[in-house]
Amino acid sequence: MSHRNKKRASKSGHSRSNSTEAPVLTGPKMDSLGFQAMESNVPGLSQVILQKLNMKSYDEYRSALEGKTPCTDFGIRSYFEMFQKMEDTFKFCVECKKLPDSLPDPKSLRRCKRCQNIYYCGPDCQRLNWPIHKKFCKKLKLAALDRLIEWLVFTGDIPFLTRPWTKNIQDLQGWEDWFLMQENLDEKLNVIKTGHYMSILWANVGKPKPNEEELTESIKRVTTDFVSRPATIGFGLSMFHLDPYAKPLTVHVVGASHVETLNARVTDYDELSRMFPKHQGMEVVMVGVDVVDGPIMRPPLVAFGPRERVYLSSYKDLYHNFWESQVENQQAARPDIVVGFHAGFHACPDLMVSWLPTLLLLRDYKIPSLFTMYSEQELKQSLRILMELEMQITGCGANPFTSLKPEQAHSNPNKPPVYSNSHYLMFHGLAGPPEEHDIGELDGEEEERS
Ligand SMILES: [Zn+2]
Ligand SMILES: [Zn+2]
Repeated sequence: MSHRNKKRASKSGHSRSNSTEAPVLTGPKMDSLGFQAMESNVPGLSQVILQKLNMKSYDEYRSALEGKTPCTDFGIRSYFEMFQKMEDTFKFCVECKKLPDSLPDPKSLRRCKRCQNIYYCGPDCQRLNWPIHKKFCKKLKLAALDRLIEWLVFTGDIPFLTRPWTKNIQDLQGWEDWFLMQENLDEKLNVIKTGHYMSILWANVGKPKPNEEELTESIKRVTTDFVSRPATIGFGLSMFHLDPYAKPLTVHVVGASHVETLNARVTDYDELSRMFPKHQGMEVVMVGVDVVDGPIMRPPLVAFGPRERVYLSSYKDLYHNFWESQVENQQAARPDIVVGFHAGFHACPDLMVSWLPTLLLLRDYKIPSLFTMYSEQELKQSLRILMELEMQITGCGANPFTSLKPEQAHSNPNKPPVYSNSHYLMFHGLAGPPEEHDIGELDGEEEERS
């Protein structure tokens, strides 16, 4: 795709000196274009773009993230160019899969007027594709809008300042109730709709501005996407009857990705403090091979946040290695709950191989665990695997705190979109006859397993 051609000129004058900056709990760094700087030494690299380019140049920007190629410049010089580059990754004919480069005139690629999302090399392909595309055109319109509005997360417009929860999480049915707890919601949404970056967006994006109602709904969907992870953790705490008012809690996020750790820097986990006002302190440790080096990657992993605060830290390794080297040696606190967002172990044998030791560890140490999936189908596949591992499944189903932002399949958009954290499953130790769970009533008989 065309972004392969992006410039990689180095621009040495841009590395930030950060020796005097506080290492922890600082807000995201923004450059002059409002992009969140990925690392102090990678100026202006937009996380949005990073996500969109994920499949193509992962190694390249990963090494940039890790500071190995400190002067990488992704050649983005204006808003117009930035939105262009974001859109470039969607520019191929959905019917015949031709890329702009392989067309006689790359500019002849035309976009579906209705959804503003997908492209065709010409009217023939469009006609051929319509019978299937018409089933998804409406949803794809929302997806196209949301991926633009998502930029406002990185300019800091979204989320609006959310309120301490006035209801217990178990009394919430889902997002509708969450939005009801936000005071002056209309006013807050208006501030975003009339904001500086919103006008920049529509002045540069080369697409018609949607109406008020559509914008409002999109902002809300993107907001749920942002709050989904901490809300899901809160949901897990409540389902496992873990009480953040009784004692400080340790949450381990397993299989954390680079995007997740970056998002965490935008302090979405603070929602946990609004969810449980005056809690005893929480530590969220993100563990995974893709965790990004940087400010939140720091010891100690045993310190609870001060009361009413969420303390974020991270550790770069597979979870079972982390457990062996850190938890077993008291370098990191034992978790009260382990959460995995889109672990994906159902999808491929290779992933399963790396997940298996972690899953067995969680089972054998009887750690309350919650995993999320993108769809009901993933849920079913994951359940099957965990039941083969004789996990005690304590709950599963549709997540009330699913993201409402549709995610389209990049290479083949004419498919039902999926939603982050749309389903969840929880497990706790080994499955067995009910009386086995109550240790107090055991009469010495241990069932042989393995
Ligand atoms: Zn075509
Ligand atoms: Zn369409």
